[in-house]
Amino acid sequence: MKVTEHINNAKGKTLFSFEIIPPKKGNSIQELYNNINPLMEFKPPFIDVTTSREQYVYIEKGEGLLDRKITRMRPGTVGICAALKHKYNVDTVPHVLCGGFTKEETEYLLVDCHYLGIDNVMALRGDAMNHQKYFKASKGGHQYAIQLVEQIQNLNQGKYLHDVIEADDKADFCIGVAGYPEKHIEAPSIQSDLKRLKEKVDAGADYVVTQMFFDNKKYFEFINIARAAGITVPIIPGIKPIAIKRHLQLLPQVFKIDLPQDLIHAVELCKDNKQVRQVGVEWAIQQSKELQNAGVPVIHFYSMGKSDNIKAIAKELF
Ligand code: FAD
Repeated sequence: MKVTEHINNAKGKTLFSFEIIPPKKGNSIQELYNNINPLMEFKPPFIDVTTSREQYVYIEKGEGLLDRKITRMRPGTVGICAALKHKYNVDTVPHVLCGGFTKEETEYLLVDCHYLGIDNVMALRGDAMNHQKYFKASKGGHQYAIQLVEQIQNLNQGKYLHDVIEADDKADFCIGVAGYPEKHIEAPSIQSDLKRLKEKVDAGADYVVTQMFFDNKKYFEFINIARAAGITVPIIPGIKPIAIKRHLQLLPQVFKIDLPQDLIHAVELCKDNKQVRQVGVEWAIQQSKELQNAGVPVIHFYSMGKSDNIKAIAKELF
């Protein structure tokens, strides 16, 4: 079922969802199941599975020489989506990236999703590769997420890339895209970022999931300006509980977001990461309660590995 159908069926009740990262290749999927199992009692209607970009690895060749190879450390997004759908009877949302994929590869991936009965995809540009300063489209790939949205919409209308087939079983993907309450790092202003978001929605995106934020005011302001800009689709807040002290530096650096002074202060007072994890849980509960009271359609949790903190939050809310 589509994410938007789940939202409509909930009739105003806030739903619980979360996203997971595929394990590093060579690891068993069981660890993933062990983290997901405790969250299933909160009945997530859908689970997102991220896609990570390829990266360069350097292999010793001897005599001081290194061989540079390109590899994907966490492949398997669509396979994991299929496995979760089958195991838990839950809808899954694979993240589809511009970066690292040709348009043809994207088409094949979408065809796989269609065969597997996956009804939703999240269309994202992806970040620059580690060695790059700026995002650069892969040869034969897309530069912006909007082009991915357009490709998926074309597929929904039976239009494949090279138009050599007549489609008699059209896909009907529900498309999610990313939104940034504190602006995307590369956008010159929040207004211009919103204009880009509106373009993605006009191209066919059905809903938006936000980047993490720690101050609900930022989300509520974002909703106001997005609605004023004519974006009417559901905007799902993304919440991440802080888990380690280093997040105080890492999260602002990686995601270009601000942390509220009260949260920084509470984390700084912690003696160890166990205490930080508890502070993260309490902060996320507070944030989520306010969002729930404001009637948000879904609260989407960035789980990233161990799920005990997400379970502690969900127990208070769902
Ligand atoms: P876009 O919408 O393409 O926007 C990128 C930038 O370009 C923005 O600054 C925008 O304002 C600007 N822009 C857009 N269109 C144009 C245009 N036509 N001309 C000029 N400028 C333009 N990353 C991963 O690698 N894997 C994941 O699984 C993943 N999941 C995510 C899930 C969520 C909910 C979010 C919020 C982010 C996720 N990301 C993921 C990170 C995301 O890939 C990065 O934030 C990336 O830098 C931007 O992606 P986007 O889809 O927002 O890009």
